[in-house]
Order: sequence, then structure tokens, then C-alpha cells
Amino acid sequence: MQTFVADHPLVAHKLTTLRDVNTPTHEFRRLADELVTLLAYEATRHLQVEPVDIETPVTAATGVRLADPPPMIIPVLRAGIGMLDGMIRLLPGAAVGFVGLARDEETLVATTYAERLPADLTGREIFVLDPMLATGGTLETVIRLALDRGAASVTAVCLLAAPEGLQRIGAAFPEEDTPVPIRVVTAALDARLNEHGYIVPGLGDAGDRLFGAV
Ligand code: URA
Repeated sequence: MQTFVADHPLVAHKLTTLRDVNTPTHEFRRLADELVTLLAYEATRHLQVEPVDIETPVTAATGVRLADPPPMIIPVLRAGIGMLDGMIRLLPGAAVGFVGLARDEETLVATTYAERLPADLTGREIFVLDPMLATGGTLETVIRLALDRGAASVTAVCLLAAPEGLQRIGAAFPEEDTPVPIRVVTAALDARLNEHGYIVPGLGDAGDRLFGAV
């Protein structure tokens, strides 16, 4: 697994406001959206391209375009939906699949309650959107789903990651046994999880802060 932690003043600035308990929902949404677009730039660094011939107003030239099949974005319901627009901004041609997982707040085990993905993901570069990489249980499930269906790579885009989650993904998908690249791109690596499975210092419940408590 490759991990990329964004080290950029704009990311740090926006993330600090995002974490602040006094940041209202409308500002939280806007900042999450902007942060995802900044992370998307790094997350898409390894996308496959193919050569294409074009005519500029001056001469013939060769450039590149994204290779087929188009990448697929998978926001993990519910909080991942708040990251979708920010990702699509840089990948307007991407397909979008959906996976819904809810974690039991006692056991912290995530179960799948919805799944809308093609049966065949052969050759697809997958971008999983999940704001909080906490225990890693949700991400492990989604990565397995993508690998079982033939994905060419899986990149998780997370606003925050905990060491426990990164450790779990690294252990679940050791490079020597995993046929395709697995990557995690995050705005920050936080200190730890608390006894309720929340990231510390974190930003609280990402879904509640994006969409309100249910
Ligand atoms: N999910 C959240 O929304 N927040 C956390 O801190 C951990 C998991």
C-alpha cells in the first residue's frame, strides 16, 4: 500500500477550519468539497493515459488522453457522497458506483447495506471516497469488492486517516500478495482512535457534519 499525506498550506488551512466544532454545515460542505479537489489532483497522479494526435492552430501535435475504460468513483454512503462533486470536478468522464456501509457503534464492525457496482471492473482504476479512515473495516471491505471484480488499481481518498486504519489496510493487502496498486491519499494522518472508534483530534462524525445528525 502506498500512502500519500498532503503537505500543503492550503490543505492545512482548510482542514483546520473543517475540524473546528464551530464551523457550520454549509461551510463544512464547501471546505470538504474544496479539499477533495485538492486531494484528487494527487490521487489521480497514476492514471493511465494513451497518445492522441491533435491539430493545434499552429501545427500537428501529439498529446495524451485518459485511457479506456474510464475510471470509476465509489463514494461510500453516506458521508462519501459529500466528496463526490469535488472528485468529479477533476474526473468528469468517470463512472460512479455506490456502496453503503454502516458501522455498529458498539462493535465498530461495518456491514454492507447497499451495493450498486458493475459485476466486472476489469481494467478499471477505482477511487473510493470515504472521509474518515478510522478502523479501516469499511475500506477493507470496499477494496476487496473492487479487487474481486478485477479492478486495475484502488485509490482511497480520505480527509483524515488514523494510524490504526492505515495499519489494517497495509496488513490486509500486502504488496507482495496484491496484484494491483492500493493507495491511500489523505489530507492528514491523525494521532489515534478513541474508545468509540473516532479519530483524534479528528473532526467528529463526518456524515453528521455534512448532512446533519439522523
Ligand atoms: N467516522 C467518522 O465520521 N468520524 C470518525 O472520527 C471516525 C469514523
